[in-house]
Amino acid sequence: MLNRRGIVIYADEFDQYWNKLIQSTNLNVLGIHPVADNAVVGNTQNRDILTVYTDFLNKYKDSIIRLQTLGISVEIEMHALSALLPRSQFTAHPEWFRMDKNGRRTPDFNMCASNKDALEFVSDNATALAKLYTPGSNRYNFWIDDVAETRCFCNECRKRTATDSALTIYNAIQRGLKKHNSLSTQCYLAYHDTNELPKNVVPEDGIFLEFAPMQRDFHMSINSVSSDKNKKELHSLSELLQFFGKQNAQVLEYWMDNSMHSGWKRPPRKFKLNQEVMKADVEFYKNCGFGSITSFGCFLGEDYYKLYGKYPEIDEYSRILS
Ligand SMILES: [Zn+2]
Repeated sequence: MLNRRGIVIYADEFDQYWNKLIQSTNLNVLGIHPVADNAVVGNTQNRDILTVYTDFLNKYKDSIIRLQTLGISVEIEMHALSALLPRSQFTAHPEWFRMDKNGRRTPDFNMCASNKDALEFVSDNATALAKLYTPGSNRYNFWIDDVAETRCFCNECRKRTATDSALTIYNAIQRGLKKHNSLSTQCYLAYHDTNELPKNVVPEDGIFLEFAPMQRDFHMSINSVSSDKNKKELHSLSELLQFFGKQNAQVLEYWMDNSMHSGWKRPPRKFKLNQEVMKADVEFYKNCGFGSITSFGCFLGEDYYKLYGKYPEIDEYSRILS
């Protein structure tokens, strides 16, 4: 049996509904994915990601503790760069932010991964984030921004690959987390243009691989030789597993991701789990040595139940991961 079997939902979807639903399965990881309100079409508020996250922690502190005592690890998975390096710092420190391909500094996404002061600032804010919440598993998934091709193109960063820059940032985050929690581990998220081997940077102690093949073909198993997309997603996987180690490696899939299926636009569409593809994928990932497998499961909360009068196929999902 897999050590860790999980599902990742939006922070705002966690309520009594999901609290009960997760307990009815044999899943033992609940990933919470805070997103800024403007990231989902149809949201009515306008909170930034840090506010969404702290609202979640304040509202559900007791439920989180209860789930952890039941053996369900509650972990945070979020694109945290705008919280770790607030864009408001741009006026005072434009050199902390990325240079675009035209040579202009911009606070739109990510950061300059060659600027030591900026990395120090990120590290300090990672310590502050760690103080907000400590998952029982000590696993943190604070990701860089969710936009491909938005690395820094300054002269220093150009000497390195996008994967080098990403790992440099993840190392800085991990250093900060460790200051508060000496047992902390932090992911390196491999997807988009970070789904390659870093060339000039090595992972610091506690960095683990999180593999999220977002560009895959969802109608064929991930190791199907007849899918060029899937072949591309897998082409660095064995190297990545060797580089980061298999021990804590985690898959983040999209089998249950109704937010993706709905185009990240409310209301949620009706969803059907492709069990055959998922079964084949899980077999493949187990054989690769992954002991931790999760999938996004957003847009399957209480509003989905009310709209369609049925629960998502969480039992089937959970059984396939067993
Ligand atoms: Zn740079």
